[in-house]
Amino acid sequence: MTHPDPLREGERIMTVCNACRYCEGYCAVFPAMEMRASFQAADLHYLANLCHNCGECLYACQYAAPHEFAINVPRTLAELRLVSYEAHAWPGLLARAFRRQSVATSVALAAAMIAVMLLAAMAAGNASSASPDPASIRAADFYHVLPHDVMVALFGGVFTFVLVALGVGLARFQRETTRAPGLLPQASGGRETRPTYTETWTAMRAALTLKYLRGHGADCTDGGQESRSPLRRWFHHCTFFGFLLCAASTSVAAVYHGLGWTAPYGYLSLPVLLGAAGGWGLVVGPAGLYWIGGRRDAAAGDPAQRPLDRGFIVLLLSTSVTGLLLLAGRETAAMPALLVIHLGIVLALFITLPYGKFVHGLYRAAALMQYSHERS
Ligand code: SF4
Ligand code: SF4
Repeated sequence: MTHPDPLREGERIMTVCNACRYCEGYCAVFPAMEMRASFQAADLHYLANLCHNCGECLYACQYAAPHEFAINVPRTLAELRLVSYEAHAWPGLLARAFRRQSVATSVALAAAMIAVMLLAAMAAGNASSASPDPASIRAADFYHVLPHDVMVALFGGVFTFVLVALGVGLARFQRETTRAPGLLPQASGGRETRPTYTETWTAMRAALTLKYLRGHGADCTDGGQESRSPLRRWFHHCTFFGFLLCAASTSVAAVYHGLGWTAPYGYLSLPVLLGAAGGWGLVVGPAGLYWIGGRRDAAAGDPAQRPLDRGFIVLLLSTSVTGLLLLAGRETAAMPALLVIHLGIVLALFITLPYGKFVHGLYRAAALMQYSHERS
């Protein structure tokens, strides 16, 4: 059960850990904790986003339950991560969406967005998959089903809102963590200066290589206490780079369109190659993370957040699977239906980005940047 006051519990636990310091070699959380004299909300939000929930400090802790201190750092920091997502969400009214996410809400939202796409295609007069225009099918002409202007208006509007919401949330998080009041005076020079190029590079390298998922030289736990493998790191890599490749594919296609080279593009063209590679990454990564999520030790995480994780994973997986199906079936009579379904799911994924597990990647990168700055 989630602690009724995660901030107070976080302060208690970090105060005990700061006196004990047994786990200081495990990850970035403990050295960052040692640079602090007190643990207020800003400090705890920052420390929570440095934790990647490997569970090592729970398994090593001599004060874990049944000890009366009942120290559980991974669970408490997991609960605090959710608190930090909500505290920085924009607009604030939508913050509670983090707790409403689940596989069921993702499916319902995707169904609603597919309906929106279908209505848009019907309004364009070309949505009937029962009698598709044979010439447009042969030419894999997506714009015959949903005109380019309609796609730009729908996705452009949602995308702009999503970028603003993510940007405001990230700026709020950065502002708070760089002014965290618990930082010791001898380390507080970090507040007054910006990260240098070297510090930025160190942080970006740690984020891109998932350095701390190898923690103290050993792989992360992927099941219980004794089960370690590189799988969790590999599946995160597949998901991250799959997402990046899909974004690159869309960007290259947009540039091509601007240059007058309109879709569809050949199977060996850059947008299709990038999209196919990204799509497979987004099949393997999310499927693997879903699988590992079911195997991991519930005691080391916050079971209440499983629906949040799974809702996001299901949308990622549905996006990639329908995208690959659309690529395979783009010259068949199923193309209009596949297109409408795929675009509806992509739109649902976009809408949930600022209020779902996606923000974890942004806040974690920002926390690593602050850590690199404080350390140097
Ligand atoms: S988790 Fe336990 S063993 Fe590790 S530093 Fe904290 S109190 Fe000490
Ligand atoms: S769970 Fe892992 S990453 Fe999180 S504080 Fe403990 S050792 Fe560090």
